[in-house]
Amino acid sequence: MENDCIFCKIIAGEIPSCKVYEDDNFLAFMDINPAVRGHTLVIPKHHCRNLLDTPDNVGAGFYPVLKKVSLSVKAAFRAEGIYMFQQNEPASGQEVFHSHVHIIPRYKNDDFGKHNPPRLKVEISEIAKDAESIKKNI
Ligand code: AMP
Ligand code: ZN
Repeated sequence: MENDCIFCKIIAGEIPSCKVYEDDNFLAFMDINPAVRGHTLVIPKHHCRNLLDTPDNVGAGFYPVLKKVSLSVKAAFRAEGIYMFQQNEPASGQEVFHSHVHIIPRYKNDDFGKHNPPRLKVEISEIAKDAESIKKNI
C-alpha cells in the first residue's frame, strides 16, 4: 500500500468503487470517468507505478485476469470487440500512478474513434537501424 495512491485506497476499501472481479492478487472495477459504457480497469493489488516497474511475478498473473474480465465485459455489453490500453508515464498519458489496464467494449460502427495513428513513411533500412538500437538495449 502506497500512501496517497488512489488505487491502493480502492484495494483497501478506503474509497468506494464498483468492483467486478477480485482475487488474491488482482482487482477489476469500473472507471469512474468512462470513455464508453463498460469501461473497466484491471489492477494488481501489489502497488507498482506502471508496467515498466511491475515485478515479473506480478506481471505474469495479469494476462489471465485481463482475458477473464474482457470476456465478461464483452458478454455483458454484447460487444463485437475489446480494445485494451495501458499508459506508462505522463508522456504517454498516464494520470494514475498505480499500474492498470483499460478494457473498452467496441462495436463495428461505434464512435469511439480509430486508435491507429497516422503512419510515417520510413525506409526499411532506417527501420532496421531502429531494430538494432532496441536490440542493443534488451
Ligand atoms: P490513466 O490515464 O491511464 O492513468 O487512467 C487513469 C484512469 O483512472 C482514468 O480513466 C480515470 O477516469 C480513472 N480513475 C481515476 N480515479 C478513479 C476512481 N476513484 N475510481 C475509478 N476510476 C478512477
Ligand atoms: Zn497503489
